[in-house]
Amino acid sequence: MAKHSADLVISGGRIIDPALGFGKEGHVFITNGCIDAVEGDTAAAKKRAVRAAETIDAAGQIVVPGLIDCHVHLREPGREDAETIESGCHAAAAGGFTTVCCMPNTTPRIDNQETVKFVQDRAKTARARVYVVGAITKNLDGKELAEIGDLVKMGAVAITDDGHYVQNPEIMRRALEYSKMFDIPVMDHAEDQYLVAGGVMNEGYESTRLGISGATSAAEEIAIERDVALCRMTGARLHIQHVSTARGVEAIRRAKEDGVRVTCEACPHHFILTDSLIGETFNTALRVNPPLRTQADVDAIIEGLVDGTIDVIASDHAPHSAESKDVVFDDAPPGMIGLELTLSLVKTYLIDKGYLTWAEAIRKMTTVPAMIFKLPHGTLEPGSEADITIIDPERKWTVKADGFHSKSSNSPFIGKRLVGRVTRTLLSGREVFAL
Ligand SMILES: [Zn+2]
Repeated sequence: MAKHSADLVISGGRIIDPALGFGKEGHVFITNGCIDAVEGDTAAAKKRAVRAAETIDAAGQIVVPGLIDCHVHLREPGREDAETIESGCHAAAAGGFTTVCCMPNTTPRIDNQETVKFVQDRAKTARARVYVVGAITKNLDGKELAEIGDLVKMGAVAITDDGHYVQNPEIMRRALEYSKMFDIPVMDHAEDQYLVAGGVMNEGYESTRLGISGATSAAEEIAIERDVALCRMTGARLHIQHVSTARGVEAIRRAKEDGVRVTCEACPHHFILTDSLIGETFNTALRVNPPLRTQADVDAIIEGLVDGTIDVIASDHAPHSAESKDVVFDDAPPGMIGLELTLSLVKTYLIDKGYLTWAEAIRKMTTVPAMIFKLPHGTLEPGSEADITIIDPERKWTVKADGFHSKSSNSPFIGKRLVGRVTRTLLSGREVFAL
């Protein structure tokens, strides 16, 4: 029996949905903003495609579920000069991300229901879905637990004191115990602050050579090891954010082998850039927490991505105004933007170099984050919202400072030539970005 005609069909592209195990040319049918069907390039599907009200020709392109970025700073409320929820979501759409999880280090902090509600309300008209990650401790000051139950009730999908390590292990233990009641992950900015001791780049040969204060990679290793121990003890779920060191990856690998419920993410800058770049330009866009490490660390992050130790690729999109970054390296606030570059960086530096296949890379940006944060997205399964990203895999382009939709342009990748670019993004079947 002939199926009813769809509102929209995306035809001719190679459809990759790791959740469905789909990876071939075909058609995505969309009705009422939801996925109606995903079909191979059969005669019947072709016939049905012709009857659709509207067609997107994706010949030569890759069609994937809208990407999910579980680590994003939207800066609103508090630093609307650097980013707003609207501009951050525009950047997300331009980078192919239809779902983002925003960090609580805003002003005020997202450690109370009112601020969760504020973000959710502001996000209603945005070009991407925004899920809130609440604070672990009040004001992120590591002293007293936030009202975690209230935050979860409001829709927080995880908790973190991102930017800060919960230095007191007893408080971290209780946070993990609480989180278990709601089965949400505790996201962990794993850097022991006593060991970081104000360091602004990786401690090692380069920091010594440049006379810039360093932060030892042991700060990350120790922080991860402690929280893995607490995770093992409590049976809660721990998600290590932006792992940056070889020993950090190794600690997570061992924890997973032991059956500890730990997951982790890596950011493009940690699998592409090293601390040796800092002395070339002193570009403050290279100042990031945790800092850029050595080539051996970069190699270990890539190895972790390849062998599955690293579950997720996230941007840690951290916009800062030009004024705040226009200072000497030591005084610059940490962070770089990433939403609009992550997919192209993954293509250029992981897929083209043969480390990951398209399916493996897309899995780390859709299926897996959806699973960890229990988000009903990241798949083209019939019935789900039609959040879809279309990618031209061979499009060559140069990153330009004035080409960002983010309000900020603090990126060390400006001037870089990348291969692969998002050409169109749909949110519930509605176009939210077109190149
Ligand atoms: Zn962080």
